[in-house]
Amino acid sequence: MNIYQIVKFKDNSAYATFWGCDWNCTYCIWKSQKWNICLPQDVRDELDRRWRENRIRFLEIDEFIKILKSNGVNLVFLGGGEPTLDPHLKDLLLALKSEKIESWIITNSEHLDDDIFELSKGLTMSLKAFDPDLHLKLTGHSNEEVIKNFKKFGQSSKIVAESVYSKGLVECDEMIKIATFLAGINKDMRFRIDPEVGGYQEIDDCIENVKKILPNTYRIKASGNIPPELLYPEKE
Ligand code: SF4
Repeated sequence: MNIYQIVKFKDNSAYATFWGCDWNCTYCIWKSQKWNICLPQDVRDELDRRWRENRIRFLEIDEFIKILKSNGVNLVFLGGGEPTLDPHLKDLLLALKSEKIESWIITNSEHLDDDIFELSKGLTMSLKAFDPDLHLKLTGHSNEEVIKNFKKFGQSSKIVAESVYSKGLVECDEMIKIATFLAGINKDMRFRIDPEVGGYQEIDDCIENVKKILPNTYRIKASGNIPPELLYPEKE
């Protein structure tokens, strides 16, 4: 598998990071920062050092499950990077299911299929831009498959849509276009708008407007400063 990092949160959920993504989003934080940004800086520096020295390896499925079970994890978010590029993802989802650990996929939405959809408790599906030219400019990829997958899976309450508010590129007019498209599929769909970096007051104003089209629109607000627990790579 392509998993190289696991962190655990205080609610016993965990986030596993997959290596690799074939898109090239202008604001991609993962391309510049491979470690969870809530980990202390000295921990990230140490992990960077070990990575450069080739001392961190990808996990096998059984190793991954063992780490989750021994730490009491009951829900794991699978993100990255792009988890759907991992050829072993379905085997992993089956293994998690048989161990009664729930899984939640966080994806750019291009490579979803029925098996991944069925085996997950939920999916955060990104729609970076509705306008095809803007999507291409922003990510280097067409949004054709993404749009098809939203039409295919978007009626399910398992789906949370997500987009990134990017100043000068994806602003409120584009969010309105995205919300209008999503509302045409499922008026109750949850839609999360993330800031590119930090937070913008204008996002909150935008969310108020988008909610008139898609009432379940929101953004995550930082709560507290407790860093997650690093489960993998283990401390040396
Ligand atoms: S799809 Fe996600 S991981 Fe891939 S380049 Fe874009 S922001 Fe980064």
